[in-house]
Amino acid sequence: MQQVVNVQEPVITPRRFKVYQHRQLDKIEALNKVPADMRFEMKVVANVLPFRVNEYVFNELIDWENVPNDPLFQLTFPQKDMLEPSAFQRMADLMSGKHTTNEVFDLATQLRDEMNPHPAGQMQMNVPHVDGEPLPGMQHKYRETVLFFPAQGQYCHSYCTFCFRWAQFVGKATRFNSNDADQLHRYLAQHKEVTDLLVTGGDPMVMRTRKLQHYLENLLKPEFEHLKTIRIGTKSLTFWPYRFITDPDADDLLRLLEKLVSAGKHVSIMAHLNHPNELRTEVCQEAVRRLRNTGVQIRCQAPLLRHINDDPDDWATMWQKQVSLGMIPYYMFVERDTGAKRYFEVPLEQTWEIFRKAYQQVSGIARTVRGPSMSAGPGKVEVQGVTEIAGEKVFALRFIQGRNPDWVQRPFFAKYDPNATWLNDLKPAFGEQKFFFEDEYAQMSAMD
Ligand SMILES: *Cc1c(COP(=O)(O)O)cnc(C)c1O
Repeated sequence: MQQVVNVQEPVITPRRFKVYQHRQLDKIEALNKVPADMRFEMKVVANVLPFRVNEYVFNELIDWENVPNDPLFQLTFPQKDMLEPSAFQRMADLMSGKHTTNEVFDLATQLRDEMNPHPAGQMQMNVPHVDGEPLPGMQHKYRETVLFFPAQGQYCHSYCTFCFRWAQFVGKATRFNSNDADQLHRYLAQHKEVTDLLVTGGDPMVMRTRKLQHYLENLLKPEFEHLKTIRIGTKSLTFWPYRFITDPDADDLLRLLEKLVSAGKHVSIMAHLNHPNELRTEVCQEAVRRLRNTGVQIRCQAPLLRHINDDPDDWATMWQKQVSLGMIPYYMFVERDTGAKRYFEVPLEQTWEIFRKAYQQVSGIARTVRGPSMSAGPGKVEVQGVTEIAGEKVFALRFIQGRNPDWVQRPFFAKYDPNATWLNDLKPAFGEQKFFFEDEYAQMSAMD
């Protein structure tokens, strides 16, 4: 292929994927530089919350001179304050004395149960059925989009400390899964209203290309004509970019994506990007370039998190960098009410301020991003801002997505509350008893 601009294709040396989980914390050499008491704290937390990190992440993305404040360190390594003080103390006490593996396991299970492991009714609501049979590996919440959780993709190249799906990575928590591509195909064939499939996890990019092919290639058949868009949610661009370059089936993967695109599907990689540092490496940029050459789009999304990216300049830099690399800023989320939320949470007002200050710094090309958005039970609710109406200070809100599509894009208002961090902290403004969608949502919840 002729290069129009003078871009040298970098030579990327293949790297073997090597991952460390909580029992191997001591084997991570870089951690020898952190004080022993901090290592102990990390082990305490890693007994409760998922821990998994690969060498690329700690060698290339973390600046060890900046530990513990480094954003990528905070993103992947457990920190003491991620547990409630009393929970931390109980686990630390157990580990300091004589203890059995079972005792640790039982306490961990108990502490996890106290951390709202399944937010927004995820386990009960939105599970679709085909021929009367429930499909636990799918969610169908918004009319036009089906979420699919392929069974083999329910883990990641590394785990994020804030992940709202953390519960499925630890203990014996019920997992979403499905090993049945048939069920997916049957359901989609019967639901002509569905235009979008969102393949998610975990991270579907941990799967071999052959598996992905099994799920996706069938969608080119005429009975899936109505399915226009295939999205794949992934963190692999920054946690394991070799997936697209030097892994044995990297080229097959690119060819698969190319095939979907040339058959007329819109393919969008939904890249999870928390911090501009993730985009610094040559290997990541090369992965982006190779993906883009297949004709897929890359859209970027992430929650706003204290300790990681609660600085408007980081967001502005990140969005601009995304645009420079040919990626599309898509969502800024509000951290969900689960797991270590208290460690990461930022009040809604401050979240909106950070969004606003970042948004003001970029041109319209990067303003494809929407947010801050809460993925709550009734839908995706965007905080449009704090304002004053008829003497009352309020939050202006709108649905970006709703369980009822008719809710979308209707402005509504909540009483100003400087401490609110989530939709369920908010009360209707102007002395009203309920938000406009509440009765209908209660009915839907009762039926589900
Ligand atoms: C965010 C989300 C989608 C996709 O919504 P878009 O606004 O189309 O990006 C679909 N299903 C669920 C459950 C979601 O949370």
